[in-house]
Amino acid sequence: MHATLPLMEISDFPALRRNRVDTLQVNLGYKCNQSCLHCHVNAGPTRTEAMSRETVFEVIAYLKSAGIGTLDLTGGAPELNPHFRLLVKAARDIGVRVMDRCNLTILHEPGQDDLADFLRDNGVDIVASLPCYLEDNVDRQRGKGVFDGSIRALQLLNSKGYGKPDSPLKLSLVYNPQGPVLPPAQGPLEVDYRKHLGEKFGIAFSELYVLTNMPIQRFGSTLISKGNFAHYMDLLKNAYQPANLQSVMCRSLLSVDYQGYLYDCDFNQMLGLPLQWKNKARTHLRELMGADIANNPIVVKDHCYGCTAGQGSSCGGALAS
Ligand code: SF4
Ligand code: SF4
Repeated sequence: MHATLPLMEISDFPALRRNRVDTLQVNLGYKCNQSCLHCHVNAGPTRTEAMSRETVFEVIAYLKSAGIGTLDLTGGAPELNPHFRLLVKAARDIGVRVMDRCNLTILHEPGQDDLADFLRDNGVDIVASLPCYLEDNVDRQRGKGVFDGSIRALQLLNSKGYGKPDSPLKLSLVYNPQGPVLPPAQGPLEVDYRKHLGEKFGIAFSELYVLTNMPIQRFGSTLISKGNFAHYMDLLKNAYQPANLQSVMCRSLLSVDYQGYLYDCDFNQMLGLPLQWKNKARTHLRELMGADIANNPIVVKDHCYGCTAGQGSSCGGALAS
């Protein structure tokens, strides 16, 4: 795979500083039942990196000490970490909102038969990738049969009460483009998703998040292989909207890797760009207990233009909508 960081190191992206942390985004490991083309963590079935039980307890301790409002669980497939359920329950017990970045097909994997019930019983919000409402496009990006598995999973989640109008069980869908283009406007695309998924499959969902593909990892490497990297970076830079700087996710989110080390966001984690704090090469979550990192400088490089292009992009969808 081609490294993209050397192409983004020299950057004119504006300096940013942190606000108060309200969301802890925790990567529970890189194992996944899928191997998607755009995956920015290069997750897959053969990856073995996973957060240990000891680190999970450090996450729980930090949630308590820092008064974090939201725990955002990601991976790989976070549900494949053997301590996933322990962490979810502990966070919910102290009143923390939990979001599970679920790839949907995980609900059909062996040993996960009761996963939907577990998520419902613990009031976990689900954020699920469905990069198109058309079968061919999803299968091309995420693997053969993924669309069908995703549709069946959405129907299962609906049957548990997820995504229905007025239901407290939130089911958010995530769209990202198939190739090196900016995503379309979030609002109109959500209308299209609702119409197509509702009419064809009887599926309801809470909201659609539209994400820009980041020029890193597997997607970035494909751009380099096809000679599209510079063109894509120009696209992102030409669509730069300074107003999005106010709400980029790194200002209020802290990203934790499977070993407990800290980053300003998941993308920086994947690029190996640690949180800069007290001149340390890298900082562990346990070192941050009781510390205030508001106003801490954020590590920015050219990939950050992926967050500020057009309507903006974050793990909660468009910024400008
Ligand atoms: S489902 Fe998510 S984590 Fe797994 S390979 Fe696809 S994008 Fe990566
Ligand atoms: S990639 Fe986006 S979220 Fe991450 S540091 Fe850059 S602007 Fe912030």
